Amino acid sequence: MKNNNNPASPSPEFIPTKEGERVGVRPQILITGAAGFLGSHLCDRFINEGYHVIGMDNLITGDLKNIEHLMKLEHFEFYHHDVSKFVFVPGELDYILHFASPASPIDYLKIPIQTLKVSSLGTHNLLGLAKVKKARILVASTSEVYGDPLVHPQTEEYWGNVNPVGPRGVYDEAKRFMEAMTMAYHTYHGLETRIIRIFNTYGPRMRLNDGRVLPAFIGQALRGEDLTMFGDGSQTRSFCYVDDLIEGIYRLLMSDYVQPVNIGNPQEITIKEFAEEIIKLTGTSQKIISKPLPQDDPKQRKPDITRAKEILGWEPKVSRAQGLKITYNYFKSLSKEELYKTAHRFD
Ligand code: UDP
Repeated sequence: MKNNNNPASPSPEFIPTKEGERVGVRPQILITGAAGFLGSHLCDRFINEGYHVIGMDNLITGDLKNIEHLMKLEHFEFYHHDVSKFVFVPGELDYILHFASPASPIDYLKIPIQTLKVSSLGTHNLLGLAKVKKARILVASTSEVYGDPLVHPQTEEYWGNVNPVGPRGVYDEAKRFMEAMTMAYHTYHGLETRIIRIFNTYGPRMRLNDGRVLPAFIGQALRGEDLTMFGDGSQTRSFCYVDDLIEGIYRLLMSDYVQPVNIGNPQEITIKEFAEEIIKLTGTSQKIISKPLPQDDPKQRKPDITRAKEILGWEPKVSRAQGLKITYNYFKSLSKEELYKTAHRFD
């Protein structure tokens, strides 16, 4: 087990030894959304840190392929369960990471009710579980709480500009409820809570057909299709490589900080420039074509990461050039069947 050099504040049941382990027993962590993009990387990280990992997923947007390498491990368990329903886990739990949710605008347009339920009812269930188990819980919030932001770059103090009844409202408002509920459990029940606001993240295990810009562009390049840029491409995003994000999550969980923390890469780029980067990376001879800009598509997004730097000593280490190369190689390694799959379970 690796040493934990981060500023850990132990939960009542968590008595670390010098190595950060509970005496004789591995710390136990429940990770929801375990078969998803971020959830599966978190499972890997906590297995590598020497935890007993319990993964949970209803597999609506997740894929067991992302965790099949963990299934045979003694210290990994998987529960096929929808956390919007009562969550039962036997035995002790030290930590909970709530990462279950559809996360792409296309997905939450197709399954809006599940999207609302997983971050509202699901969060409530997991907070209740954390209370019973006296576990520390970290919930995955999002830069979407800032909506189409009027403050740039976005600091945690900014309250956001969200349209509750627009197409993104089902995700944004559920995540805002998640934050409010989590804070209420902290103040009212004294629960140990952490809130991360995740900005656009990319890397291996993203679903090629999830509609998000990076898998969309790389998938199109690999299939020999034109790249579909929405609007005039002047909208900006800031892309964080998954390994950097996972490190930020780990540090926040081990910190004693309860207010929300932005984790993302502040290197901002327009979607048009991003499309050009993907064309260069993939060497495709396809061109960029313009499609209508979806309603309420945020015009600009860039995290202010001052808080993460000061409190967690965290900042991203992987450049976009490095991260895109690794991600492109991952997408290239997928089967033809995977590359041409357009539908998903809920289609
Ligand atoms: N986008 C695009 N073409 C695509 C998919 C997305 O131009 O095929 C744009 C989208 O309109 C948005 C940005 O890329 O401005 C990022 O979209 P994504 O769905 O990845 O996530 P968001 O940051 O909007 O939640």
